[in-house]
Amino acid sequence: MRRAERAAALLAFAVGAGAAVWALWPTDVPDDLELPPLGQADVASAAHIREAERFETFLRWDYVLAEVVVLLVLALYAWRGHRLARESAAGRIGTGMLLGMLGLGILWITQIPFGLAEIWWARRYDAAEVGYLEWLLGYWLGLAGQFGFICLALAIVMGFAQVLRDRWWVAGAPAFIALYVVFAWSLPWLIPDDRPVDDPALAAAAQRYAREQGTDPIPVRIEDVSAYTDSPNAFAAGMDASRKIFIWDTLLDGRFTDDEVHVVLAHEIAHHSREHIWKSVGWYALFAVPGTFLIALATRRRGTLREAQAVPVALFVFVALNLAAQPILNVVGRRMEAEADWVALETTDDPTAARGLFEQFTVVALADPSPPRWSTLLFDTHPTMLDRVRMAEAWRERSEGRSHP
Ligand SMILES: [Zn+2]
Repeated sequence: MRRAERAAALLAFAVGAGAAVWALWPTDVPDDLELPPLGQADVASAAHIREAERFETFLRWDYVLAEVVVLLVLALYAWRGHRLARESAAGRIGTGMLLGMLGLGILWITQIPFGLAEIWWARRYDAAEVGYLEWLLGYWLGLAGQFGFICLALAIVMGFAQVLRDRWWVAGAPAFIALYVVFAWSLPWLIPDDRPVDDPALAAAAQRYAREQGTDPIPVRIEDVSAYTDSPNAFAAGMDASRKIFIWDTLLDGRFTDDEVHVVLAHEIAHHSREHIWKSVGWYALFAVPGTFLIALATRRRGTLREAQAVPVALFVFVALNLAAQPILNVVGRRMEAEADWVALETTDDPTAARGLFEQFTVVALADPSPPRWSTLLFDTHPTMLDRVRMAEAWRERSEGRSHP
């Protein structure tokens, strides 16, 4: 019986997942688009490429080493951590939360050297303004947030497991998907130090672009970050009534032309008009279902998440699955970013500004225009700057073809 049930559940998930991918995968980027054969020498000077490569290589290896340490520490904790459960009198769920926080706390300490190394390196390149103590304080405050998250997650999972035993994931996965939606919806209110846009031309462009992309107007906010960093950035957050666009003041300090900033604006509006945040919910759901199932499977030998002693194993499997899913999520992320770039080109009709923006990014943000493939696979949530320039040129070729038949 149990076997037939399992086969039916697997089939239902496979059909659902197939339908979801079929709905989530297509973008506005033409399938037959061919990117012109440009090289990195076409987008940046040799000196800038060298500097960006040096800058990013260190950060990449710092990150890889940090992740290796994360996995080793959590594997060790999964192996030995359950022994600590016996000494607590906090009840099953309370003890589970304590073990979860202890695991995160140990992890937090082991990551400090890698974080400090990153700050040290970024300060050498003037890419960070933050001091070491200030960074440590912010990092410490971040731990408080992580403690809150893990306690909430464990309360949900272990609460369900008290009733459903090793089938807690059937209720747990939808609960996490709902939490993801709540978080994505409320994110615009969690952004500190933001203010309304004060440039009337930019505000007018935002209205115009939203209309051209077939969506309602979206408020634009400026986030003041120049006290901490020189890096330019912008992002879209919220969904439906909470939609907003945030532009860092570092993008508006004169290093980028107005036309280049307008390309960024059109790109961020495209994330909303093409429903990328709702699509991210869909992708998250696709991973949450098998992910929670695998955690349930892995914790069975420790009495499933009904028992506190299963928490260290659950933590390890959760983090390992997240790392394993990252390359796939990066592919999805790069597709959505490419679509936002394409829609921005269609909206602004300005491939020259788009190209200028991406080229300026390689200089200002020290972005390696064409990083090694393994690095793109593991880390890159955006197309490389070289590919973004190539897309702008491909758009130009097509539009010239359209206007001179
Ligand atoms: Zn984007």
